[in-house]
Amino acid sequence: MVLLLLLLIGGIACVILAELEKGRDAVPRAPGDCPSCGHAVDAEWLICPHCRLMLRERCCGCGQQRSVSHRYCSQCGEPGQEKKI
Ligand SMILES: [Zn+2]
Ligand SMILES: [Zn+2]
Repeated sequence: MVLLLLLLIGGIACVILAELEKGRDAVPRAPGDCPSCGHAVDAEWLICPHCRLMLRERCCGCGQQRSVSHRYCSQCGEPGQEKKI
């Protein structure tokens, strides 16, 4: 009977741990999150204050600030500088 109880408690603990793991992975990533560190960033910020990632850059086609995550400028269609790492 005691063994059965221990198994039951162990099973519940496993379920709780699995749920915690799931919760950790399911952190919602809003469109305004930094692609590098995941912190919420304002759409108007140029640089992420948490990891200093460049969030926006000046478009070389029209001079407007544009998100670096966009492949092409939303104002003029100019492709961004290819970043070779
Ligand atoms: Zn960041
Ligand atoms: Zn542009």
